[in-house]
Order: sequence, then structure tokens, then C-alpha cells
Amino acid sequence: MHLQTESRVILGKMKRRQTELREWRRLWTILGVLLCLQPMRLAAQAESLDLSTSAGRDKFNQAVKLHNEGVLLFEKQDYAVAQQKFKDALALNPDFAEAHCNYGNTLMNSGQYEEALSEFKRATELKPSLSVAWEDLGTCFQTVGKTPDAVEAYKKYLSIDPAGQHASKIRSTVALLENEIKRTSNSLVSNGPNDYLGDATQNGMTRWSPDLMPLKVYIKNGAAVPNFRPEFVDILKQAFADWSQGSSGKVTFVFTDDENSANIVCSWTNNPKEMMSSAEGGHAMVIPDAQGILKSIVILLTVNPSGAVVTEKFARRVDLHEIGHALGLLGHSKNPDDIMFSSLPPGDLDCALNERDKNTIIALYSCDPSKVASRPLDVSRLMMSGDPTSTVMRTVKLNAEASEAMKNKSFAIAVAKLEEAHKLDPSNQIINSNLGSAYANCAVIAFMLRNFPQADKYFSQALPLLEKGTNKANYLAVLKNYCSMLRLTQRASEADKISKRIKALESKN
Ligand SMILES: [Zn+2]
Repeated sequence: MHLQTESRVILGKMKRRQTELREWRRLWTILGVLLCLQPMRLAAQAESLDLSTSAGRDKFNQAVKLHNEGVLLFEKQDYAVAQQKFKDALALNPDFAEAHCNYGNTLMNSGQYEEALSEFKRATELKPSLSVAWEDLGTCFQTVGKTPDAVEAYKKYLSIDPAGQHASKIRSTVALLENEIKRTSNSLVSNGPNDYLGDATQNGMTRWSPDLMPLKVYIKNGAAVPNFRPEFVDILKQAFADWSQGSSGKVTFVFTDDENSANIVCSWTNNPKEMMSSAEGGHAMVIPDAQGILKSIVILLTVNPSGAVVTEKFARRVDLHEIGHALGLLGHSKNPDDIMFSSLPPGDLDCALNERDKNTIIALYSCDPSKVASRPLDVSRLMMSGDPTSTVMRTVKLNAEASEAMKNKSFAIAVAKLEEAHKLDPSNQIINSNLGSAYANCAVIAFMLRNFPQADKYFSQALPLLEKGTNKANYLAVLKNYCSMLRLTQRASEADKISKRIKALESKN
């Protein structure tokens, strides 16, 4: 067989858009496949065309040409014309797997998910070895909330292309999705007819006390963070305003310049490693106690994990979603139209809080305190919402294990867990102050056992960590213990120094 024209075809090099909320990686696949037109492959791929005739070959080559034009147009974001090119290519060669795939991508980009799904499925039927088609299929399933199907499709990608360009991110996504399936499988929750409070609070309920309104929001200056743009601040402030309005004023905010007294702290980073999963747009960490939320920390990425620019719409969607978490909507909606749905749509679509979002936040903040109290947070389940291999999630997990050990008075275990967590994330204030407390407990035990050298070592480790923490009462108590030990062991001059520090601190309060 002799083929002319288009001897080498670049099939699809459209940019992948990668957008996502805190847990889900979104891969927006456009084929990056170099396909040489080898006769065997052609025969397999173009069954509907008779390539032994020059008319058949012309048709085939014309389809490839149209397809490639579509790819270039897609790259230029001329989506409507690109879509038509793919359609025209398919009209000439209905068995053109790559064209089905890219046609599907243009459909997915404009929110036509059902239509996109059937294109991706067709592509995988025509060419089961086309790994990106499985990836796209997974993305689309994920987007419409068909999580088990998404996992299956992603696994298919990994089986075909285990060292592929997106393999490690897909592995991370599969881990997340499998966790989400586990996390949500055995919870009996009930949503209201027009809200998703049940799903959003299926691992327990917490919220901000009404006494704290308006919540003080501190937005860190991001000017020094690469790729930060000043408009991010306006978009973020608007997202807070939207939640306030959407909650009918049950949640209100005021912006503050004082980070320490802030209830919600927002900051930016350009380092995807600071995220709970390797490729998310932002995340929120909520620190609760029995009375409600104590503090929420929101970290937003200035770069799209794929390297693409963070668009206004992307930023707005991530902001609204993360603020929802920060307010106590810790779980996810199963409805792709809701802001608390776990994945972002692949296209750069407009977004706003819908009625269900508004009803959900109102329901959370209107329900009886006794109902909130009766549903304590299941921290171990909540922890599963991140990628378990990420640094943040490993740190969170170690901290939870340490606090369990502390409860059981197994301080040595707590110290070991927290030291490991501290190594992973040396600047984490929560870990630092917990590690300080664990050392202090070990010090007190050693002191009581009259093992003074060991007590001294632990006190010296505890104090610098506690000094930096926010719990001044705790710091004072440990200083006093240390002082007693110094006096008991005839170290009077050191004891005097500590006494002075104690007095200075006490006079401050
Ligand atoms: Zn989320």
C-alpha cells in the first residue's frame, strides 16, 4: 500500500487544561499523540474507508487534515470552529478514534457531558490502546459525578500507559476518588429537598458560632508569590460577599489586617506541593473544637496545576468552593451543578452560588445547636478527603494519630509521630505547638520520676516551640514546672532567669 500526503500526522497537541478544587485533580486531555501512518494501523483504524482506492485514501487524508486544523484552532481557543472541523473529519471517516476524542473534548469544554461521554466511549471502542481516550473518559465521568466509572477508566489508562505523561497525577486522582467512594459509601445521610446539607456534613457537623460574626478575614499579601495577580484579591472578596449574601446574612465577614486575631486566613502559593493533592487549585483546613470552628486556613494556588494561567472564572470557582469548606461545609455535594461538588467542570464556565448552595449554608447555620452537638466530627473519615500520599495529608494524619496517643497518655508515641510531622512541615504552627506540648508532658513525667537530665532535655525542646504558639497559658504552666525543677536541682541562677520571664509574661496579661 502506498500512501501519499500527510505522511506524518500530528494528532492533537491541544493544551490540557487542568482545573480543580481541593481534592480532585482534573485532567483535560487533548491528544498528544504522534501517529505515523503505517498501513497496518491505517487498516485497523479506517475500516469504513477503502484505503486500497485512491478515493478512500483521499478521504482518509482529508479527515486527518481537518482534524489537525481542529487541533490548531482548539489551541487558539476557537472552540466552535474547532468543533466543526472535528465533525467534518468524522463525517469523512467515522472510525477516526482521535477525532472522536477531540470532538468529545470540545463538547466537554462547553458542558455537554453526556454527548462528550459517548464520543470518548466510541474512541475507546475504536482504539482501546489510545490511553488518552481512557483518561478523557475518566475525566468526563468524574465531572458528572460517576466516580466508580471514572476510577475504572483511569485504571485502564494506567494499565496501558503506566509511565505516561499523566500517570502519576492519575494515580493520585484514583487514590482520592477511591477514598471518596469509601468515605461516602456507608453514611446514611439525608438532604433536604432543596439542599445538600446531609452530604456536606456526612462526617459530622461544625460551624462558626453566631457570637463570632462578622468573621474576621485576613488576606495575606500575595505580591511576592510568583504568578499572583492583584485581581485575585477582588475575586476572593467577592466570593466572601457571595456567601454572606447567599446565607441571608447568617454568615458575615469583615476584612482585617491582623493575622493573629483573624478567624479565616487566606494566602497564596505557587507551589502545588503545598496542596493536599498534587494538582489542586486550592484547599481549606478547618480547625474545630467541641464549640465550633476555631480557625480556617485557605490556601490558593496562583498557578493552574497544568501550568496554564489561572483564569478569573477558575479563581472564582475555587474561592467559592474553599470558602464553603471554611464555613463548615466539609463534605461534597453529589450534584455537578453545586459549588461544593468535588470536581470542577473542564470548561472555563461561569459560576455562582445556586439555590441549593444557598439553602445548604442557611440550613447549616439555622439548625438547632443540639443537632450540631449530636453529630461530632469523625476526624478519621474527614482526613480521607485528601490525597493520602501528599505531605499535607500525611502531616494531618500523623497529627491525628499523635493526638490519639496523647489522649491515651502515650507521650513517647505522640512525640515520635509529631517529630515526623514536624520534619515534613517545619513551619506548621499546629504541629509545632502540639510537639511542644508532647515534649512538655514527657518532661513532666521524667521530672516526676526524678530523671532530671531527661526532664531538662524535654523542657528545653518544649519551651521554644510553645513560646511561638498561641496558647500562652500552656507556655506559662510549662515555664513554672521548669522553674520548679531548676530550684529542686539547685540551679538557682537559671531558675531566677525563668522566674523573671514568668513575671514579665504575667504582667503583660
Ligand atoms: Zn472540596
